[in-house]
Amino acid sequence: MTTSTIIVIGGGAFGVAAALELNRRGAAVTLVDPGPLPHPLAASTDISKFVRMDYGTDLFYTDLAAEALDVWDAWNATWPWPPYRETGLLLLSSERMRPGGFESDSYDRVSARGVATERLLGEKLERCFPAWSADRYVDGYFNPRAGWSPSGRVVEHLVALARDEGVRLREGIRFAQLLERDDRIAGIVTTDGERLEADTVVVAAGAWTSVLLPHLADRLDVIGQPVFHLRPDDPALFRPEIFPCWTADIARTGWYGFPANDDGIVKIANHGPGRWIDPDGAREVTAEDVARLRAFLDESLPSLAGAPVVATRLCLYGDSWDGNFLIDHDPERPGLVVAAGDSGHGFKFVPLLGRIIADAVEGRPYARFAWRTRGTRSSEHARFLGEE
Ligand SMILES: Cc1cc2nc3c(=O)[nH]c(=O)nc-3n(C[C@H](O)[C@H](O)[C@H](O)COP(=O)(O)OP(=O)(O)OC[C@H]3O[C@@H](n4cnc5c(N)ncnc54)[C@H](O)[C@@H]3O)c2cc1C
Repeated sequence: MTTSTIIVIGGGAFGVAAALELNRRGAAVTLVDPGPLPHPLAASTDISKFVRMDYGTDLFYTDLAAEALDVWDAWNATWPWPPYRETGLLLLSSERMRPGGFESDSYDRVSARGVATERLLGEKLERCFPAWSADRYVDGYFNPRAGWSPSGRVVEHLVALARDEGVRLREGIRFAQLLERDDRIAGIVTTDGERLEADTVVVAAGAWTSVLLPHLADRLDVIGQPVFHLRPDDPALFRPEIFPCWTADIARTGWYGFPANDDGIVKIANHGPGRWIDPDGAREVTAEDVARLRAFLDESLPSLAGAPVVATRLCLYGDSWDGNFLIDHDPERPGLVVAAGDSGHGFKFVPLLGRIIADAVEGRPYARFAWRTRGTRSSEHARFLGEE
């Protein structure tokens, strides 16, 4: 590592993973976040996130997720508690699976890797996963090599590791602007006017990135997605053995969710178009959002249809225009590295993000995440971008 001092902006999954790895590679790293970490409004601060390798025909993400899964296993073996829970993932389709559809394409790619997937045709869904409407979901498959992670706790643990390993944590201060000297970025100025100098600044501020760096506003959108917590009368019906992580026509509707947690809460969210919001403004889940959820439950999960919604949250995606992360040097601003554009599917890669971001800092970005000009709008294959 030629760079000796690095400031990382943002202590979510991307930022803390980067800070840890850059510190391990010998840099003097300062991590800046308004705090407290994990920040309650960060996308990473949540009770659960999917870990899946099902990415349609996209072998790049399939392979990357498979690699991440191996590290999740290693973390399970070495952390004081398991950060990855392998419940498996149920990918349901209300149409017969056929090539070109998300479920069929994912099934073929994941099965070809040797994963013991199980096709769900006939009465199998009703027999094995009884909460689901078998009238509606006529096809699909179960991938046993998938699950979820308590993401907020994971970030908390990584922050503690970073602190123990010598990363300088500056919680309670906010990035305001870049400090420029001699045609390069030389550090940052905080909202309190404090100047912090460094050879390199890594901005990993999630959905806030395009607000902090307005020149990125044409490439990174701030998109709010509603999240619902339901409390079923009988949580036993939603335990992981018979109600694992699931997607329901996800690429056509966005719906996905999790088994009941230890508190009996079932979390459901939508990987859909969402809506643009100000990351520092009000975050409101509307009556219309709840009505859409109820309509979905009525036709798909009748035993959850009457369950009260006990909590809601509007969580923020930092959407890139093509669904790929943006992790590279800004070619027009020497000394600035951007690690953002998570597009709502970044958390599962946290075991690899430190390496990916540190390699980019050292001038070896992943081609998929490298600096690029804006093209047409697209997304990773599970994402529903709305009706054309
Ligand atoms: C509803 C929802 C569901 C999701 N589900 C999944 C899933 O199932 N699986 C999956 O893999 N991914 C999922 N994701 C995506 C995943 O959460 C993100 O990819 C990941 O958490 C992004 O991490 P981040 O570090 O980029 O951003 P964040 O976690 O948002 O962190 C950004 C940090 O920047 C800090 N910051 C903001 N402003 C400033 C400032 N001025 N100065 C310094 N710091 C600042 C914030 O305080 C925050 O700590 C989901 C996202 C959402 C919203």
